[in-house]
Amino acid sequence: MTLKSILVTTALVSGLATAAFAEGKIGIAMPTKSSARWISDGESMVSQFEEAGYTTILQYAEDDIPNQLAQIENMITNGVDVLVVAAIDGTTLSNALENAHFAGIRTIAYDRLIRDSAYVDYYATFDNFKVGVQQAETLVAGLQERFPDAESWNVELFGGSPDDNNAYFFYNGAVSVLQPLIDSGKITVVSGQQGMDTVGTLRWDGAVAQARMDNLLSAHYTDAQVHGVLSPYDGLSIGILSSLKGVGYGSGDLAMPIVSGQDAEVPSVKSILAGEQYSTIFKDTRELARVTVGMVDALLEGGEPEINDTSTYDNGVKVVPSYLLEPLKVTGENWKEVLVGSGYYTEDQIN
Ligand code: BGC
Repeated sequence: MTLKSILVTTALVSGLATAAFAEGKIGIAMPTKSSARWISDGESMVSQFEEAGYTTILQYAEDDIPNQLAQIENMITNGVDVLVVAAIDGTTLSNALENAHFAGIRTIAYDRLIRDSAYVDYYATFDNFKVGVQQAETLVAGLQERFPDAESWNVELFGGSPDDNNAYFFYNGAVSVLQPLIDSGKITVVSGQQGMDTVGTLRWDGAVAQARMDNLLSAHYTDAQVHGVLSPYDGLSIGILSSLKGVGYGSGDLAMPIVSGQDAEVPSVKSILAGEQYSTIFKDTRELARVTVGMVDALLEGGEPEINDTSTYDNGVKVVPSYLLEPLKVTGENWKEVLVGSGYYTEDQIN
């Protein structure tokens, strides 16, 4: 008998059929509070799950893998019905998920695919390849706009964390747009550094990106000018921009390079308005929470979660049935319409 049916039975017996009751306990494991997007993911999920009648345990692991593992083990011990996990390292959760499975707990991979486990039931995310395509498209549009006369644009590439499956999708999506331009000579990667194993940024750490940009500038750009930087996440973009500003870009005759991003975090939207970062990608975390709550409902009610992709996300053991949401490009042109118009931010938060 499920918890819900016990509660329904109890409610009926005691004549309280219309009273609100918890339908299940949901363990939500998020990677870090250091980035605003995950805070908003957590808040949206808690409010939507609770509105639907669930109880929640929400935990953040501050990008520490053993910490996240311990949190998930605790949720299992605590008797959650479903785990919703945005993994720090998508490859380290196999044992925990096996334990969950044998305790009758279902698991949803949230935003980031959990790899190497048969016990990932569903995956709720955005079209991650498309995120990369859009990052590169905004980069190229910005290069055309700001440096129309350059024979070839000097561009450096940054990737996300190599332990995050998404990072490869973002990078491959971006390269699908950039590689033809690199091959034709329209874009020059002056450092020659390409490929996730070379350009990845462990734990999505802005300080690591800043240090790499410092090194690229001193090793390869004493005579050449940087025109653009592919950055896969706003937190890295801010570090990259600090490095660029540190050597004079964005002042005097030295135009600010075009720098992309992701997540539409407030400091980056402000930076876009200040003419520093060029673009970001908006992924509505409220929608991702909504899809996830729908999946949990279906799982606990014995229904079929809504999915729209059954081929893309092979986790090494199985192709995980997925629901992919649409990402949106954001620049100085459309930020208000996309971010304020959707109610994600108020104008006061940005200005
Ligand atoms: C998410 C991005 C985020 C990045 C860093 C990725 O897995 O999909 O939205 O920018 O992690 O937190």
